[in-house]
Amino acid sequence: MSYVVPHNSVKQYFGALFDAVRTTVVGMWITFRYVWGVKTVSIEYPEVREVLPERARMRLFNDAQNCISCTQCAMACPVDCIYIASEKMPEGSEVKKTSNGQSIRLNLTQFVIDTALCCYCGLCTTVCPTECLTHSHDYEFAQYTVDGMKYDYLAPDVRAWRDRIVKT
Ligand code: SF4
Ligand code: SF4
Repeated sequence: MSYVVPHNSVKQYFGALFDAVRTTVVGMWITFRYVWGVKTVSIEYPEVREVLPERARMRLFNDAQNCISCTQCAMACPVDCIYIASEKMPEGSEVKKTSNGQSIRLNLTQFVIDTALCCYCGLCTTVCPTECLTHSHDYEFAQYTVDGMKYDYLAPDVRAWRDRIVKT
């Protein structure tokens, strides 16, 4: 028994064949441009690091000396990952000022951010009246445990971390 192959099917067959060859050549041309180094896509990390855009939002830093414990950042946070505690200054104690001249009337006793929950939206930094809460450019803060992602900004090592980041 013999079949008559419709003209359209032959056309479709060769059309698909041509498309397959054409798209493979185009795809391989893009691949080989990277393979031959015409266009580089990788860097020798960690010796070489990407320069992040100026407004990139990485790990948060609170310059606690300029924090007035107003809790506006915690209220703005959509995932409630900022934990603040403060107490009244002792009677008659000297009222300190932040670097932008605001009075510090409360004693900050806890400022913790759970960066495992943080979505880096930046809302907390936007509302901060003393601009002490900022995003750093540090993206290298992997931890072995989820609990390790909670950063205590009153701890001395956080200050040391910030100084290291600012210098580099
Ligand atoms: S960046 Fe967004 S999610 Fe992260 S602590 Fe600030 S407000 Fe919360
Ligand atoms: S908004 Fe700024 S000043 Fe107010 S508690 Fe948060 S970090 Fe401190």
